[in-house]
Amino acid sequence: MPIAYVGIGSNLGDRHGHLKHAMRGIEALGTIVAGSPMYETAPVGGPDQGPFLNAVAALDTDLSPYALLHEVLGIERETGRVRRERWGPRTLDLDILWYDGKTIDEDGLTIPHPGIRDRRFVLAPLADVVPGLADSDGPYADALGQVADQTIQRISGPYDTQEQRWMVGIEAATVLTGDGGTFQVDTPADWENPTGDMFGAFLSAVVLRAVGEVAVGHQPSSLTYRFVHGVPQGAQIEVVPVKVRGSGRSADYVVSLLVDGREMGRASVSTVTESRAVTIAPEMPGVVPLSRCTPVDELFAPVGRLTGASMRSWRPLERWDIPDLVDGTSGVFRAWSPNLTLGTEDRFLRAAAILMPIDALIWTSTMHQLGFLGSRKVVVTPTLEFSGRFPDLEHDPGWHLSEVHIEHMTDRSVSGTIRVWSEDGSYLSVGASHNLVISGENLLEIV
Ligand code: ADP
Ligand code: MG
Repeated sequence: MPIAYVGIGSNLGDRHGHLKHAMRGIEALGTIVAGSPMYETAPVGGPDQGPFLNAVAALDTDLSPYALLHEVLGIERETGRVRRERWGPRTLDLDILWYDGKTIDEDGLTIPHPGIRDRRFVLAPLADVVPGLADSDGPYADALGQVADQTIQRISGPYDTQEQRWMVGIEAATVLTGDGGTFQVDTPADWENPTGDMFGAFLSAVVLRAVGEVAVGHQPSSLTYRFVHGVPQGAQIEVVPVKVRGSGRSADYVVSLLVDGREMGRASVSTVTESRAVTIAPEMPGVVPLSRCTPVDELFAPVGRLTGASMRSWRPLERWDIPDLVDGTSGVFRAWSPNLTLGTEDRFLRAAAILMPIDALIWTSTMHQLGFLGSRKVVVTPTLEFSGRFPDLEHDPGWHLSEVHIEHMTDRSVSGTIRVWSEDGSYLSVGASHNLVISGENLLEIV
């Protein structure tokens, strides 16, 4: 079916509610295959007015462009939009940005939408759902440089098409309370966790955050952790970082993770005051570019829901490098994953943004390698050991490519090395993992 990209904006009344209303309305017109994060953006042109919330939805639809326009204008009206002045404030604005590569230039409908290249609030979320989109004038992403002066801020994670809501960023999902000795994890109110699996990636982000609270003025340089996956939903999670040694420039912490009072895992985190660049820097492999990879939800649709929150909640926009995934015999698995922070300054959260997709990649590739991926009734949970080094965390990472090389396996364990590059080819991280699969009672069902 044709894919249409629909731009959504609101700057009057319950803006968040209007965006949610728009997504529900659009969902009824076909299938939403991806939704961008929400951005808060300064108004461009028009009268003095409040900031907008903007997002973009990718819709797989049978409707013709005209029928689609008719429907989206209907959704606008449901929020009580009244057209008063051009570029004025509005409860909801829905624009068809692009429709199946078609060009239409009629009175009431212009496609591609003529404003795309002038508007950062359109270009940025559009690039989130479809990084390589182009029209006859070239790739849209090339226009981002010209609108860099327009103020926009990402305020949520991507839209989860299955849960039909916007995900929170790492910042909001790993809020800690406590006095510096022991921290409690405040899982956010909208954190839905249908499989009950608080995955290792989330826990490692919590560990980094807890150390960040006590290692003031430092940044992480390496982390090693060993956790059992499958922390039940609603469990009381406590993190206790203990400084074991430190000099003026570096420190080592051991962090224990308690679930309902029982120790479930341990991590050690080293921190430094000055960043050290990673010196071993292999070249980024030539892989399927981001723009030609399939969203993970689409790729795994035939085998159903694969993992818990780690796959669906955190990384709905992740792209797999399909040839590598299919050719599992090579023992190399790669995935593109988006940044999961909302533009944080916190270097511990930046490190977590690098680590979380690695964890999910290791988990999924281990399942694949052991033949569990896609099997419908296997009950397993892996114990994951990961150790890795972080690079200079000066910048918030964007899309990055993670690679796992499987080096050793038995019928219940997989070990390998991990490398991570940022989208521009610079090196981000290096590590190793040992993944043990245990099956038994009270573990997760992967279906
Ligand atoms: P804007 O979105 O440019 O601020 P309005 O939403 O007030 O302006 O204008 C909506 C009108 O623009 C609609 O009545 C519609 O006929 C016309 N239009 C032309 N092309 C498109 C498009 N690709 N998507 C949405 N509306 C369009
Ligand atoms: Mg409009």
